[in-house]
Amino acid sequence: MENCIFCKIMAREIPGHVLYEDEHVLVFLDISQTTKGHTLIVPKAHRTDVFEMAPEEMAQVFSIAPKIATALQKTFNCTGMNIVNNNGSSAGQTVFHYHVHLIPRYNRDEFGIRFINNMEDYDSSDLAALKENIVQNLEA
Ligand code: AMP
Ligand code: ZN
Repeated sequence: MENCIFCKIMAREIPGHVLYEDEHVLVFLDISQTTKGHTLIVPKAHRTDVFEMAPEEMAQVFSIAPKIATALQKTFNCTGMNIVNNNGSSAGQTVFHYHVHLIPRYNRDEFGIRFINNMEDYDSSDLAALKENIVQNLEA
C-alpha cells in the first residue's frame, strides 16, 4: 500500500534490518530499540490492525514468534520478553500496518506495561452482564 512505511520496507524501497523472511511475514529490527533486540513481526499483506486480520494470517504471524523469540533470547540472554500488539491510536498504534512487537526484557524497570486493577468498579453481576453481551456477539 502506498505511503505505508512497512510496505516500503517489504518492497526494499527503504532499508530495514531484516532478520527473517518467508512467503507470509517479514521480521525486522524496530528502529526505536525500546530494549536491545526489539523486533517486529509483520505480515506481508497490508492489514491495518487485528480487525482486518484473517485467522490464517494471524496464525502465520504467531507461528514464527517462538523461533524469533528463542533466537533473541539466545543472542541477548534476556530474562523476559513482552510480546505486544497495538490496535488503533487509542491503544498506542502509530504505524497502521499490523505488527507484533517482541521486546526483550532485562530488568522490570526499562518501561512499564502495568495493568491497573479496577476491580472495585465491578462486582460479579457486572462481569456476568459483560460476559453475556460479549458472548452474544461471538455467536452472531
Ligand atoms: P506501534 O506504535 O505499535 O504502531 O509501533 C510502531 C513501531 O514501528 C514503533 O516501535 C517504531 O519504532 C517502529 N518503526 C517506525 N518506523 C520504522 C522503520 N522505518 N523501521 C523499523 N521500525 C520502525
Ligand atoms: Zn503496509
